Parts: sequence; C-alpha cells; structure tokens
Amino acid sequence: MSSSTNADEKKKESFNAEAASLLVNNLRATFASGTTRSYEWRASQLKALIKLCDAHEQQIIDALYSDLAKPPLETVAYEIAMFKNSCKAALKELKRWMTSEKVKTSIATFPSTAEIVSEPLGVVLVISAWNYPFLLSLEPVIGAIAAGNALVLKPSEIAPATSSLLAKLLGEYLDNSCIRVVEGAVDETSALLQQKWDKIFYTGNGRVGRIVMAAAAKHLTPVVLELGGKSPVVVDSNIDLKVATRRIIAGKWGCNNGQACVSPDYIITTKDYAPKLVDSLKAELEKFYGKNPLESKDLSRIVNSNHFGRLTKFLDDEKVSGKIVFGGEKDKSKLRISPTILLDIPRNSLIMREEIFGPLLPIITVDKLEESFDVINSGTKPLAAYLFTTNNKLKEQFVMNISAGGLVVNDTALHLAVNTLPFGGVGESGVGAYHGKFSFDAFSHKKAVLYRSFLGDAPVRYPPYTNIKMRL
Ligand code: NAD
Repeated sequence: MSSSTNADEKKKESFNAEAASLLVNNLRATFASGTTRSYEWRASQLKALIKLCDAHEQQIIDALYSDLAKPPLETVAYEIAMFKNSCKAALKELKRWMTSEKVKTSIATFPSTAEIVSEPLGVVLVISAWNYPFLLSLEPVIGAIAAGNALVLKPSEIAPATSSLLAKLLGEYLDNSCIRVVEGAVDETSALLQQKWDKIFYTGNGRVGRIVMAAAAKHLTPVVLELGGKSPVVVDSNIDLKVATRRIIAGKWGCNNGQACVSPDYIITTKDYAPKLVDSLKAELEKFYGKNPLESKDLSRIVNSNHFGRLTKFLDDEKVSGKIVFGGEKDKSKLRISPTILLDIPRNSLIMREEIFGPLLPIITVDKLEESFDVINSGTKPLAAYLFTTNNKLKEQFVMNISAGGLVVNDTALHLAVNTLPFGGVGESGVGAYHGKFSFDAFSHKKAVLYRSFLGDAPVRYPPYTNIKMRL
C-alpha cells in the first residue's frame, strides 16, 4: 500500500459520523457561548481571510495549477481578486447589514413599533465544488461569517491541492473554535450530512444536490443549492460580431476551459448567420490560443480522467459524427481537449441532453431567432442565459420569457461579478442565492420583532365576542 493510500485510510478511519457529531457539538457549544455574534469577531475573521490571500497568493496559484493547470491570471482575477473584493465589500457593509431594520406597523397593533433582526442561524455546513475550488469554498464562508455563524467547510476532493491548502491556511488564520475545514470525499461528506445543521450550502451537480436536500430534510434544515445546467447563448445577426465572439470565448474557454457553472453550454443562432459566427469564433480562438491549443498555457486542463472520459463520450456519440467544425483534438495523457465547436447538432444527441462542463461548444440553428426561446424553455431552467443583440424588443422578450438563474445581455458570465445581484439558480439549476448582501441573508434568520407598550389595550379582541364587536 502506498503512503498516500495509508494516509487516506487513516483519514477515513478518523472522520466518521462519530467524529462529525463531536465536531458539530463542539461548534454548537462555541456558538452558544456567543463568540461569533459580535461585530468584532466577524470583522476580524473577514480581515484574516484577506490577509491569508495577500500572504499566500503564490501558494494559491500553485495549488490551482496543480489541480487544474489553471492559468495564473485566471486564478488571480477570478478566484483571489474576486474573493478579496467580496470580503472587502462585506467588511464595508457589515455594520449596516447587522443593523436591525425598522418597519411600519399596522393600525391593528397601534401603538407599536417593529423591526426585523438578522440573527445567525447557528452551525452551518458549506460543501464546495472543484472547478473554482478556492472561490467557491470561501465565497459562501464570507456570508456564513458575516452573519455570525460557526461553520464547517468541506472543499472538493477532486481539487486535492486546493483542499489541503484551504485546510492548512484556514487552520492558521481563522478562529478554529468556530470555523473548521473537513477534507474528504463521499464518506466524509456523508458523515457530515448525517448531522443536524442549521443550514447546508452546497455547490455542485444536481444528483448530489438531491442527496444533500434529502439529508437536510431529515432535520428540516434549510439548504442553498448552487447547481448547474445548460446555459444557452442566443446570437442575433445585428451585433458587433467581433466583440460578441470575444465575449463568448471569454465566458467559455476563458473560464477554466468551459469547466464553469455559468459557462456558455450551447449557442442558438439562425441557419443564415451560423457560418459567419463560426468563422469569427475560429479566427478569434486561433488568435487567443494559437494553432496548437493543446499546448496553450492559457487554457486549463480537464480536471481528471473521469471528466475527460465524460467529455470524449459526447464526441463519440454517432449523432454528432462529422459535426465538428473546429478543434476536436485531445491528449489523454495530459488531460487536454482543445476548444471545439460543433455545428447543427441534433437536439436529441447526448451533448444536448447533458450539461457539458468542458471545452465543447455545440451550435444549434433555427429559422427565426424567436424560436430559440422555445428551444430554451423546452429544457430545464438553466443557471444562466445569454443574448447578443441590439434589438431592444428582443431584449425585452428575452427578459420576460426566459426563466434562468441569471441573464446577461451582450456578454457572458459577468453577472456573477456584480455583488448587488443575487447569484443562484431556479428550478433544477438551484435553490436560493448568495453574493453580497444575499450571502449575509442566506445565512441569517430574519427575526420579526414587535414592540408594544401597555397603552392602547383595545377591548374588541377580548371575549365576550358580542355582535357589536363583530361589526367594528
Ligand atoms: P464535485 O465533484 O466537487 O462535488 C461537489 C461536492 O459534492 C464535493 O465536495 C463532493 O465531495 C461532494 N459529493 C460528491 N458526491 C457526493 C455524495 N455521493 N454524497 C455527498 N457528497 C458528495 O463537483 P461537481 O458536482 O462535479 O461540480 C460540477 C457541477 O457543479 C456542475 O453541474 C456545475 O454546473 C455545478 N456548479 C455550480 C456552481 C454554482 O455556483 N451554481 C458552481 C460550480 C459548479
């Protein structure tokens, strides 16, 4: 048995349901002591997270490179800088978020005052995914801390270097009596899921989302499920094609080589316009990634051989044979697949039935662009949907008719960088939302408080219930 297998076995032995129960009990005791409730504690933990990023930027870049060959610029911009910005914004707003909100009362309670008090939920669990393993682990943690909770973070075992770095750094920088990292895979997550939590925040696929929700239901624990789906891009013909092309590429291959939840999954355009769009995508892709994109340092690799196999299966489907108009190169030993475009894909092909989550981009064509709405609405509700057009009527129809977690007009993926917008899915793409104040709210209970004095004691509410009282 290799030493790493030995270590794995040891970890498995040491973290079972009993260990999970002990951990939750300890965190519950600390939460009950009130430690996490003060503004000072919350602010100190958020500041420590910023410090951690500043002091260990290179280690974070290296971990993500080890897990995904993620280009350092993508790590710095989309994982570290985005996370730090969220932390800083939370610190700036924290006092305001924590302040209770005075609200109007009704004549029925006159005289009275009322307020909504944001109260921490207690001990919460954050389960994270592998594709943005730093950001997706820590972004929900901001909300959990800001709202005053104790928490356990379970990073993804599929990004092991980032998982172990998070465990080490959070151990060093944060208050371990309230914030803990548990590393591991299905066994460890299952042990955690058997416990009673006050909220479970899960990022990942819908199959496991259902397992999480079922486990939560046993304890009536509320959940946030950040899931995925097939995010479409509708492309009109009246656009600045070059800008649109570059923005589609940035959202697809420029985000972890398509391994992003808001990555464009497929394009819908008209039969007439498709050749022009394909030519433009080919030209810009070549400019960005060169003639041999398998060697490009600006593209992440596929995370592991399971996902590599899953993606190549899409290409092996006989329904898509002969449909590749660009790319299609793969290198199994390096887990690399080049940016690949498929044209005129049948809607019953495997690639159109499942979320792609990788560098393959099918284009389906319609006679009239308006038909694209029916195509989108015939599937499950996506996490994101994109439209490129200058037609204001079409924009309006898109916003009114397409149900998705979020929409972007004339760009891709960028809505998740806007902290004043909620980020989350709808239907099968997720439950609940976070980012900015929405993160704070996701981890808070909005407690309704009504204050009365001993004045205004109306006899009408007390028996005997006379006819006169009925008419008042
Ligand atoms: P993953 O394999 O890392 O799994 C996510 C988490 O679930 C991990 O922590 C893992 O340990 C845990 N897990 C796996 N199997 C489990 C089981 N049987 N029981 C309990 N826990 C289990 O990530 P993934 O699911 O491959 O992530 C990709 C999916 O996540 C895609 O569908 C993508 O769209 C979605 N996603 C969504 C968002 C979002 O913010 N909405 C972000 C990233 C990814």
